[in-house]
Amino acid sequence: MKNYKKGHNGSMLYLDNSATTNPYPEVIDTYKQVSEKYFGNPSSIHGLGVQSERLLGKAREQAARLLGVSEQEIVFTSGATEGNNLAIKGSAFAQQNRGKHIIATTIEHPSVSEAIHQLEQQFGFEVTWIPVNEKGFVDPDDIKKAIRKDTVLVSTMHVNNEVGTIQPIEKIGQVLKPFPHIIYHVDHVQGIGKVPLNIKKANVDLCTISGHKFHALNGTGILYIKENTPILPLISGGGQEKNLRSGTEHLAGNVSLAKGLRLALDDYEKHISSLMETKQFLMDELAKIDGVVLNTPRDGSAPHIINFSVPGVKAEVLVHMLEEEHIYVSTTSACSSRKKSESKVLLAMGKDKKIAESSIRVSLSIKQTVKDVKPLIDVLPSSIQKLKNIMGL
Ligand code: PMP
Repeated sequence: MKNYKKGHNGSMLYLDNSATTNPYPEVIDTYKQVSEKYFGNPSSIHGLGVQSERLLGKAREQAARLLGVSEQEIVFTSGATEGNNLAIKGSAFAQQNRGKHIIATTIEHPSVSEAIHQLEQQFGFEVTWIPVNEKGFVDPDDIKKAIRKDTVLVSTMHVNNEVGTIQPIEKIGQVLKPFPHIIYHVDHVQGIGKVPLNIKKANVDLCTISGHKFHALNGTGILYIKENTPILPLISGGGQEKNLRSGTEHLAGNVSLAKGLRLALDDYEKHISSLMETKQFLMDELAKIDGVVLNTPRDGSAPHIINFSVPGVKAEVLVHMLEEEHIYVSTTSACSSRKKSESKVLLAMGKDKKIAESSIRVSLSIKQTVKDVKPLIDVLPSSIQKLKNIMGL
């Protein structure tokens, strides 16, 4: 706690932005103002309710415009775990009379893969898991080959949360074009604001984003649902969100999410080239450090995620050592990092156990510059050496 406080007052280097980001002050202001001024329930028929409903409509309109979709296609959620569950289970259940075959990749986030496992284990669905190559990329041809008569859903993530590989969403969308009855879901959580995706052009039916990954608030998110896509709601009740997600709307959350999305997309325009430089610098410098193996491929990876291993050194020990220097990185992904297991994504890429259990993820925010991240490069070699000495390596 002491270190955190010290860091927070100026010297902290936060490099765990794929786990979560610090909210924009404007987002927090919006949340506070909306909570104070618009406390009416959007479903109430009196004036306060009508005002809230109008504001909700504006947030939906703004989010739709920013994502290049229509406002009827926006469903506000509590984040991507909910969005992915609604997308996967909702579309599978709605189509199960037509078929029970699902296609997904071996590197999906647990909120996708576990939802699919549940369909497989408890509801009789069959799944074809598409492997990735040694660099972490899916081949659209493998998806094509896996399509069956009874395939109802394909789910592929856009940017992988552990290694940052960008999957060929538009090409997969093209593969699926002749099969309009197959629903295509994309987990766009790590892509939004960092790697553009044209949802309409890519022929995507369902697309998930989460506020807290782009400096909006945790507990907010959007599932894009293309018009006429069959979805069975998972949460029944008062019929909000076009009956797809009942529950009194999280008005302040949704308005602040739309605000955060606008700021994040503006920041993309302003800072993307500097972010790319920062990543390049880190990749180049990390490659020079003795004992470091880069897992993120140089080409075709997102500008904010860099994954490397120090074989022989346990990742969590290195994470804590860096924390002593007020540098915050993570092992694999935050959702699974407490389980202390090796990275499933790296194993799926064919890396050996030593690499998979010693992997560190550095994830940048859009505004971090070379100067900001240099302290990592300054302290990493000595931290690694210290650990190697302790372990007698
Ligand atoms: N998908 C991906 C690719 C993610 O990185 C995450 C967050 N770790 C999620 C889904 C889940 O997002 P949320 O925290 O909003 O539930």
